[in-house]
Amino acid sequence: MPGAGRVGAPSDRSGRAVNPGPAIPFLDLQAVNAEYRFGVELAFKTILDHGRFVGGPEVEEFEQEFAAYCEAEVCVGVGNGTDAIELILAGLGIGRGDEVILPANTFVATAEAVCAVGARPRFVDVLPDTLLIDPAAVADAVNSSTAAVIAVHLFGQMADVARLRSITERFGLALLEDAAQAHGARFGGRRAGSVGNAAAFSFYPGKNLGAFGDGGAVVTSDRQLAARVRRFADHGRSVDDRHRHHDRGRNSRLDSIQAAVLTAKLPELDRANASRNGVMAHYRANLPEDCIPVAVDPESEPVHHLAVVQVPDRARTTAVLSAAKIGWGVHYPIPCHRQPAFAEFAEHLPEVEKAAPRILSLPMFPTLAEREVERVCNVVKGTLQ
Ligand SMILES: *Cc1c(COP(=O)(O)O)cnc(C)c1O
Repeated sequence: MPGAGRVGAPSDRSGRAVNPGPAIPFLDLQAVNAEYRFGVELAFKTILDHGRFVGGPEVEEFEQEFAAYCEAEVCVGVGNGTDAIELILAGLGIGRGDEVILPANTFVATAEAVCAVGARPRFVDVLPDTLLIDPAAVADAVNSSTAAVIAVHLFGQMADVARLRSITERFGLALLEDAAQAHGARFGGRRAGSVGNAAAFSFYPGKNLGAFGDGGAVVTSDRQLAARVRRFADHGRSVDDRHRHHDRGRNSRLDSIQAAVLTAKLPELDRANASRNGVMAHYRANLPEDCIPVAVDPESEPVHHLAVVQVPDRARTTAVLSAAKIGWGVHYPIPCHRQPAFAEFAEHLPEVEKAAPRILSLPMFPTLAEREVERVCNVVKGTLQ
């Protein structure tokens, strides 16, 4: 029935409609994945037939295509994005006694990976407009124990890798990219994954390039580092004798089915990212003045993973969004340096603390329609008047 969502919508006592349209999810994965069904089902059939569920030819095919996509030399498929960060750190020989600088505004996985290799996370503040790692804060935090800096490309926008690179070169530090939210993004023309010593990607289903389960990758142009990562991820096994283990490694693999799904989706990634950017542009054009979307650096070509805005009264805005059946999220309400798990690394970081209670993530996915964005904007507008 056309327009059914509007008929008999519940209203509050003043007669104002509180649910003036159909629900809008925060992320509609069924819709996003629907167009890949045919390609994926075909790949599943091939894998069922050959039976190489781990280490099948699909993995190498994806690794080659994703390395080329990132404009880098090598891709090593691993179990998930968190492992990817940990494996890069281990591959660089970073561990006990080392300090690793990272932004406080990131998913806890970035910090967990640092701790997993025995290094110490050193949280630094973010820029107030992009909410990305502040290069000046990085330069201030460097000391004799610093071994690496992790540029987290959050919400689909790369950190200022030009300034970060000049700092890491000046002090002889490694530069890692946490590109879990930035498949395809560019900064100064360079793709995420092609700038640092190595980059970590996550293929968690909701990411810009998402598998049908967990998955991750290390992307690098340092072939020796790639070989060490591959060895650690496969029990420290030597390449020429699978029963000889030179390192104490672990098990972290991208399986054939996930690789096949990713290969089916990769050719459409640029188009999906362009749709995300269209959604973000429509938000910018239609959101009220005191609902402020994250800024984009002029050097940056983002692939908006999340539509993050800052609002004066988040509790009020989220209550009204929920009443209108509009999905929302917060990335991240408790910054890493204020998490109980990282209490020993606590610092006072004013910008990230100021932003934390104001940030709000609005619905964002490639198949979100313009009229749905407009409805979200109208509902948000109502909460700010
Ligand atoms: C998703 C994510 C990770 C972790 O990836 P998983 O595949 O879930 O382990 C790391 N860092 C950031 C910024 C992320 O968004």
